[in-house]
Amino acid sequence: MALARCDDHRPDPVEPETVSYALPLGYPGTAVTCDVVGCENPARLWLSRDERSAFVAGQRVFPIGGGVKVRVADDLFPN
Ligand SMILES: [Zn+2]
Repeated sequence: MALARCDDHRPDPVEPETVSYALPLGYPGTAVTCDVVGCENPARLWLSRDERSAFVAGQRVFPIGGGVKVRVADDLFPN
């Protein structure tokens, strides 16, 4: 499951291990907001190693919890 976090609340590399991030479509004008309580900043989608592999293989839709899935753009960034 990807982690939706803003620039002020970037995840530690171990919670869970995040190796890359992708941007929700339209970022920073995205509807996806940071999952930290009280924060409403636009979120990047932090990907695990397996999710990074799926991204490289062409996957662009990732679950973020609560049954919500987010479509990301075609660029991939290192953590
Ligand atoms: Zn935040």
